[in-house]
Amino acid sequence: MSEPLSTPLSTESTAFRSALEVIRAVEPRIADAIGQEVADQREMLKLIASENYASPATLLAMGNWFSDKYAEGTVGRRFYAGCRNVDTVEALAAEHARELFGAEHAYAQPHSGIDANLVAFWAVLAQRVEAPALERAGVRNVNDLSEADWAELRQAFGNQRMLGMSLDAGGHLTHGFRPNISGKMFDQRSYGTDPVTGLIDYEALRVTAREFKPMIIVAGYSAYPRLVNFRFMREIADEVGATLMVDMAHFAGLVAGKVLTGDFDPVPHAQIVTTTTHKSLRGPRGGMVLCDESLADQVDRGCPMVLGGPLPHVMAAKAVALAEARRPEFRDYARAVVDNARSLAEGLMRRGATLVTGGTDNHLNLIDVASSYGLTGRQAESALLDSGIVTNRNAIPADPNGAWYTSGIRIGTPALTTRGLGATEMDEIAGLIDRVLTTTEPGTTKKGAPSKAQHILDPKIADEISHRATDLLTGFPLYPEIDLG
Ligand code: PLP
Repeated sequence: MSEPLSTPLSTESTAFRSALEVIRAVEPRIADAIGQEVADQREMLKLIASENYASPATLLAMGNWFSDKYAEGTVGRRFYAGCRNVDTVEALAAEHARELFGAEHAYAQPHSGIDANLVAFWAVLAQRVEAPALERAGVRNVNDLSEADWAELRQAFGNQRMLGMSLDAGGHLTHGFRPNISGKMFDQRSYGTDPVTGLIDYEALRVTAREFKPMIIVAGYSAYPRLVNFRFMREIADEVGATLMVDMAHFAGLVAGKVLTGDFDPVPHAQIVTTTTHKSLRGPRGGMVLCDESLADQVDRGCPMVLGGPLPHVMAAKAVALAEARRPEFRDYARAVVDNARSLAEGLMRRGATLVTGGTDNHLNLIDVASSYGLTGRQAESALLDSGIVTNRNAIPADPNGAWYTSGIRIGTPALTTRGLGATEMDEIAGLIDRVLTTTEPGTTKKGAPSKAQHILDPKIADEISHRATDLLTGFPLYPEIDLG
């Protein structure tokens, strides 16, 4: 009798198993941590709006010899020798980005979203502050300025104005807030949302822009569940002579997947667009800048302006992920992300939860857990985590609990949509979230005083929900093609 044939391993399984073996031979604890991370990600109900699961091809593109290469400069114009393969990678990443987003120019080097924003800010400052100063002085390079002219230029860099979305309305720290370098560089003012509708108040924004006269208006958000009309934003920017910069870090996948088009696609409207590549776009951790031709040269000076040597291995992975995002399936994915966010919103509201703005048009929802469940964001986040549901707390407009404890929970659908969950599962997840939050109570400090951090949840309920979450996910395995043994 012949031996039963064993199922051959997938190419992906072989690749990842071999990689882990090689790592294990040097530092087994790192191999274990990698294996444990996959196991945890497989079991978690991941609802963090800024996370996703990159494909095996994207992950594998990062682990190779490109990591060893220095390549300061840009394609064909490097400060180091031997960069022809890095040139191939960077040119391909930029080409895919231009084609995918319809951009005139793409810069794939930023190591993260914060770096992409810094490149963009300094590109605008170089165009609007430095270039005229060089022209006035009749020189081509800052090194040729006199000490007095250089001192004056440095003052001028620090005296520019920026208008960005307020943090509690959903803006990001890198949009001019004091704890971040952007708030130290610019004189910043914020625009917010209408207190009744929760939507961006464009007329109020226009009034602030007329009065404040910013050099840069920043649009884009981390926690705003609705669409932004970038045509309106550009009109306002043009009226006051500002450059419109859009940070699409959160919703780049929806732009790539053509869910956000026309007035809601930032690329045709903004002079400069920044993004991360690892959120709804489903690529490796990293950043990118898109811009029109007028800013291309300045953007390409991101290194050495604010970046060191590029990460060619990550640019390789960006190229792979962008190639994936150009496939027709990515459009179905992006549509499903938004449909799922809507199903989640409906499920939550039907069960009595209050959502900021009363719903969603994108990939995220913001639950007002203070008014819905009498909890702080911190208490709700911990209770959900006890129950196998990973979310993050987030401020809501005019948040009475401040930015640390908060009154909101942000939930997003990019990751679970990648695993294939749909409307039925979203409704069940809404039920699980609601059950956890209705049964959780605010806790007290050790001395018995009310605490915004502590929560009380019956461990039996947490266990029951956790098991249900894991059961639900077994129907939607993460990386089904990968068996790590
Ligand atoms: N911009 C926005 C709108 C973000 O939400 C984030 C991250 O949360 C960033 C920038 C910063 O991205 P990174 O963490 O890659 O620096």
